[in-house]
Amino acid sequence: MTPAARDRLVIALGRNPGRSRSHNRRVVLDLLRSHGQLGRKELADMTQLTTQAVANIIDELMAENLLVDLGRRRSGRGQPPIQFAVNPDGAITIGIEVSVSHLVATVLDLGGNLRHESRLDIDDTRPEALLPMIARRVETLRAKFPVMLMGVGVVMPGPFEIEGLSGVGPTTLPGWAGIDAAGRLSELVGMPVLVENDANAAAVGETLFGAGQALSNFCLIYFGGGIGLGIIADNLPMRGAFGNAGEIGHVVVQPGGRACLCGQSGCLERYASLHALREHLEGHGHSADFATIEALHQEGDPLLTGWIAEAAAHLSTMIGFLENILDPQTVILGGMLPDSVIDALIAGLRLGPSVANRQDRSEPRVTRGQTGQLTAALGAAALPFFNAMTPRLDLSEGPGRSSEPAAQALEKGTVA
Ligand SMILES: [Zn+2]
Repeated sequence: MTPAARDRLVIALGRNPGRSRSHNRRVVLDLLRSHGQLGRKELADMTQLTTQAVANIIDELMAENLLVDLGRRRSGRGQPPIQFAVNPDGAITIGIEVSVSHLVATVLDLGGNLRHESRLDIDDTRPEALLPMIARRVETLRAKFPVMLMGVGVVMPGPFEIEGLSGVGPTTLPGWAGIDAAGRLSELVGMPVLVENDANAAAVGETLFGAGQALSNFCLIYFGGGIGLGIIADNLPMRGAFGNAGEIGHVVVQPGGRACLCGQSGCLERYASLHALREHLEGHGHSADFATIEALHQEGDPLLTGWIAEAAAHLSTMIGFLENILDPQTVILGGMLPDSVIDALIAGLRLGPSVANRQDRSEPRVTRGQTGQLTAALGAAALPFFNAMTPRLDLSEGPGRSSEPAAQALEKGTVA
């Protein structure tokens, strides 16, 4: 994570009016993360806590191996203060991204460094098969990294628990409607598990590691199986009242267009999604795996070029909506398409006039994400991280998600 990204976590933190001990612990930890190293007095000044209170918190964090003592650093006259820093090896978070065809696992250390990634193809996504599989994956990674586990984040395609939309179509997971994924997983794993939709997690991933690092307001159009939207507004993910903000896949962009399993015709997902692309290619006798899509694009295959042109036209409409409604600094396109195809989609956009049409723009109106295939899986691992450092973000709150227990476990430190 860059210093800029860390600073933004601190900004979000600063808005939290709570002054509980657990909150103060988080603030101290986060200031150390964002500044690299600080002494007790500096921390006391920054947090407006007493030096004694800071000293107690530091003792506690040191005892939990979350901080390291860097010794004294000379600064001016008098005895130089002892400097403390976050211990990257002190704790990890685990992220699991579940899609219709595979499961990606990531491990981040306390310094925000990627320590592990692995991918597993899956063919059975029903809860009774998938829930134990996720739990086993977490167990394996806990054994591989025998340090404090700060939390587990799981991302899956949304929308969550919506009658009429959830569980319809091949881009959502069948059989998951009404399943309390966070609750069931927390039970299986033995600690609170945060669950988020893939587009929101991907936006968090780009915020911390990718194209969103220097941005406070952006939209991420995410190509999972379907198409989703993650919104970062004033540094915070916008989740909506029920965690389903940004469900753009079933917005009609072509009235009277292609029939959709949601019951409407002309939904964006029927044109601009990995599923629509696969359908298009397979309908013409091509396989549609990642490598084939990449190869077809390189060859300039007219089937793929045709799909890109059509998808870009509908994306242009959607991007115009987003710009006018949300006024983002930029719109990022990312997810499970080859970079070259995303670039071609961007090149194929025909953006009309919108509030984004300003002369003093410092960012392009649309840009490609930088975390590639790993975006959502990185975001998954960052969820507990965000939750621990920035209680205000409250990514864990909402239907079907654990909230306060997660924070309590983080404060106590659940040792693997
Ligand atoms: Zn639809």
